[in-house]
Amino acid sequence: MLGLMQDWPLLIHKIIDFAGVQHGAQEVVSRSVEGPIQRVTYRDLRGRALKVAQRLSRDGIKLGDRVATLAWNTARHLEVWYGITGVGAIYHTVNPRLFPEQIAWIVNHAADRVLFTDLTFLPILEGLADKLPSIERFIVLTDSAHMPATRLRNAVAYEDWLAEADGDFAWAEFDENTAAGLCYTSGTTGNPKGVLYSHRSNVLHSLISTGLDALPLAPSTSCMPVVPLFHANSWGLAFSCPMKGAKMVMPGAKLDGASVFELLETEKVDFSAAVPTVWLMLLAYLQKEQKTLSTLKVVVIGGSACPPEMIRAFEQDYGVEVRHAWGMTEMSPIGSVGYIKPAARAESYEDVLKLKSKQGFAPFGVEMKIVDDSDKALPWDGKTFGRLKVAGPAVAKAYFKGEGGDILDANGFFDTGDVATIDANGYMQITDRAKDVIKSGGEWISSIDIENFAVGHPDVAEAAVIGVPHHKWDERPLLVIVPKEGRKPTPQDLFEFLKPKIAKWWMPDDMQIVAEIPHTATGKINKLKLREAFKDYKLPAA
Ligand code: ADP
Repeated sequence: MLGLMQDWPLLIHKIIDFAGVQHGAQEVVSRSVEGPIQRVTYRDLRGRALKVAQRLSRDGIKLGDRVATLAWNTARHLEVWYGITGVGAIYHTVNPRLFPEQIAWIVNHAADRVLFTDLTFLPILEGLADKLPSIERFIVLTDSAHMPATRLRNAVAYEDWLAEADGDFAWAEFDENTAAGLCYTSGTTGNPKGVLYSHRSNVLHSLISTGLDALPLAPSTSCMPVVPLFHANSWGLAFSCPMKGAKMVMPGAKLDGASVFELLETEKVDFSAAVPTVWLMLLAYLQKEQKTLSTLKVVVIGGSACPPEMIRAFEQDYGVEVRHAWGMTEMSPIGSVGYIKPAARAESYEDVLKLKSKQGFAPFGVEMKIVDDSDKALPWDGKTFGRLKVAGPAVAKAYFKGEGGDILDANGFFDTGDVATIDANGYMQITDRAKDVIKSGGEWISSIDIENFAVGHPDVAEAAVIGVPHHKWDERPLLVIVPKEGRKPTPQDLFEFLKPKIAKWWMPDDMQIVAEIPHTATGKINKLKLREAFKDYKLPAA
């Protein structure tokens, strides 16, 4: 017997309709690319999104078409997402930090028809224009006063284009499983692969990822999504903030410590989310300028491992709670958040810090397991590590255009490519990406663990650990560091510092100083490039 409840399709535009009605006066504040701070309300934003939808449909954009955005976090970018999905088309977020050839590759792979861009990226696009045959029109997110001359095909200033619509338009109707968004993973091996979100998965992801125990959003929240809309679906904040009626403070193009600090304070931000590198810049600024944070209460840190020293600095020096989170583009992207359950509460701050350095537990809607090479489930004892697999209604079941083939196992689980432990309370800890783990004498060494400890050394700005070939042990760890300005730590300094913290056989065999560690477009340490840079390197003992 089936239940007798309504089929109420989980569509994204229902979120902005809700925000426009129930939280109509709530603000979305942006640091515009042109410079000044701009303010709109959810009511305005919904009205403008309807105009985007109306205007796009007049341009012939329809169900299933892909529309690219190459833009910073601003209200304009947000309303464009809602406008695109409101006609059943698909927002395709392009990461401007990719190389121009990679941008061309994914735009062509997606066959995007229209491209919305910020002024910042006109030079990149002008260099690529001949290589983007599918783009019929470039819409520049600015007004006519700021619109430069450009040779981009059918280029138009967004505000002029939008002014041609009156907003008297109804959202299109379609199934909740209709595709809504497309985001390519950075593809450190092989070509990038497109993750295709649906309306349903985005709505469910907002419900899954928010709450007192996850991303704490409410109408009283002032949230700054520093994580870009082009990075892993903005960690869902483009949907969860309006769904919860939270104020949004969009930082635009300026993510340096001083700019982020200024907006945090002037807009009374109490919750924010970003990758560790952004927080590193903020903390460095706060320390240098001797500033305090007067309103910020909670930060979610994810995308790469958050070093314990960063958690300690936020919590003890600035009174800001850190929730370490993990996820990936394929998971919409939240997979776990580090809220402390009563069962896991610890006495000493050092024990709390150990727990908070783990990546948290999976919320309802994310199933998790760790398995060995024969796919046997491993115990949740906090020690045994294995490949991390996940399942849930906001987890990918295939990539766009079938790229990469079948990605689920016989039980419907997706292999994240991460290696992790899970403890008795459900807290998961990432050991490494499977391809970065160091295999020494048949055992695994976690590069992330050593890096986390190494950046705790007062002379170290950034640290990376890679495996290098060893005649006897197969691989041994090499520590690569970027020292803090004016500091010159020796290998002995670092090894002495690490000694009480890690097992003897984990101790790196050598340390090398570099001026810079390479990063991927999403701000992660690019281990592939780093290994390449050290491919001719020989360990002293070898
Ligand atoms: P990309 O590969 O394009 O950078 P993602 O943002 O989807 O895209 O990267 C997901 C990966 O990032 C995860 O599989 C994991 O390896 C890593 N990651 C994310 N959050 C954390 C975290 N808190 N700690 C350690 N690794 C993390």
